[in-house]
Amino acid sequence: MMLTPHSVIAVIGSGTMGAGIAQVAAQAGHPVKIYDIQPGAATRAIDGIAAALSARVAKGKISASEKSAVVSRLTAAHALSELADAALVIEAAAEQIDIKQAIFRDLAAICPPDAIFASNTSSISITAIASGVPQPERVVGLHFFNPAPVMKLLEVVSGLETAPAVLESLTTLALRWGKQPVRCHSTPGFIVNRVARPFYAEAWRALEENVAPAGVIDAALRDCGGFPMGPLALTDLIGQDVNFAVTCSVFNGFWQERRFLPSLIQQELVLGKRLGKKTGQGIYRWPLNETLPYEPAAPGNSEAKHIKFHGRAAWLNNPNSSDGVTDSYLELDDVLVQVTQGERATQLAKRLQRPVVLLDLVNDWQRSPLVVLAAAAGNTVEQTAKVIRFFQQQGKQVLTINDYPGMLVWRTVAMLANEATDAAQKGVASEQDIDTAMRLGVNYPRGPLAWGAELGWQQVLRLLENLQQHYGEERYRPTSMLRQRTLLETQHEH
Ligand code: NAD
Repeated sequence: MMLTPHSVIAVIGSGTMGAGIAQVAAQAGHPVKIYDIQPGAATRAIDGIAAALSARVAKGKISASEKSAVVSRLTAAHALSELADAALVIEAAAEQIDIKQAIFRDLAAICPPDAIFASNTSSISITAIASGVPQPERVVGLHFFNPAPVMKLLEVVSGLETAPAVLESLTTLALRWGKQPVRCHSTPGFIVNRVARPFYAEAWRALEENVAPAGVIDAALRDCGGFPMGPLALTDLIGQDVNFAVTCSVFNGFWQERRFLPSLIQQELVLGKRLGKKTGQGIYRWPLNETLPYEPAAPGNSEAKHIKFHGRAAWLNNPNSSDGVTDSYLELDDVLVQVTQGERATQLAKRLQRPVVLLDLVNDWQRSPLVVLAAAAGNTVEQTAKVIRFFQQQGKQVLTINDYPGMLVWRTVAMLANEATDAAQKGVASEQDIDTAMRLGVNYPRGPLAWGAELGWQQVLRLLENLQQHYGEERYRPTSMLRQRTLLETQHEH
């Protein structure tokens, strides 16, 4: 069915997502009918939307007449049979396959055969939902992000039977609604919930291995990595139960692929009902009161006498030579300082027979207020203090973590880039759509594929290989697409 700006849109389920989606459709000018199995819920959702829009009127964001026009387009339906004129049904009911299938089967007997049936499921196979629904080619995934009126990204998900024309119609519609559509095949986690897994998983692992307290892990990812929020604080905000359920669903969806292994610490939080902000405690106590163990000012007598830069001025992110020393490094007297390559500082120090301090990756050196360091175990306090002093004099705060291969930001970014190449290689989505999805769906500072290319695929590969060697686990296995990228990089260089 052609979707016009005046097509009737039906929304099933008037909870968090359904209400948000209904608001988006009404704001775009569509008549919208909302149905919820709970009597009165749809009307309450419309009242909630009206209140949210009134707040926007009060702030001068929209006019009072715009608000009433939007609200006038919303109606509560009391039975599915009232949705017979819908050109598009967007289902945002409970996350259970039998409920979703039953809704679409019932609607198939009510709506015209070319009405599009979209599900906002975040974890159920679109192919599975479509099976058993008459005209399964019209069943499609339309995955909004919370809050739907604010988040720009829309994953348009195809199942095995979904007709290309349906994908086209929804892509055009999404653009008209001011959203950014990305296309993907129905695979566990679609794009965002799959590629984002390492962001959380590496933070849980660092916590499990006692690398640093939660606040330090979060500060590193936020202030050095450039992510809007640290991964652990984000799980508290999402809800530990919700985030854990997504991780388990992706883990099981991929036949218990080890890369996606859920965290025991997180499971404990869920079992203990420490669900995060909504229960007042998760990883943190809420409201959050952040105090970080920044290094105190290093004394003046710790200043290095000889400071020598090697390599490019932007010496922090750079390629390497075979002895594990990057061609961009810093010498503060006898102390070697460089960005981690996935080896521990102690390993490098032992091989080079000199003191070593490693730095974590920094996304934007000028703007980052923070440097995260790991010192080799054999360093004297004075040797490490030289490095702390050096960065403090550049106006940076310094946090020190245990000597940990790949540190916090670098290994997370490498794993995100690796996961993105896995999704791209398997044809889940285009490379461009994967990057767009991660920038707009979870506000990453860069798409993971663009980030990998910028850091250098050889660097990403080296880091992952070092991690793989360290742990002896397949979790850090680089994908064949990533390896291929490194070969292409070499060709370009010659
Ligand atoms: P919610 O619990 O807030 O709302 C679900 C609503 O659906 C409830 O009002 C419930 O009464 C209604 N409902 C249940 N069964 C129904 C049925 N058979 N017919 C009609 N209405 C029914 O849930 P939510 O967070 O809005 O999630 C809805 C869907 O969106 C789920 O599939 C979820 O996985 C998906 N989703 C959620 C988010 C999120 O961040 N909350 C993001 C993307 C996708």
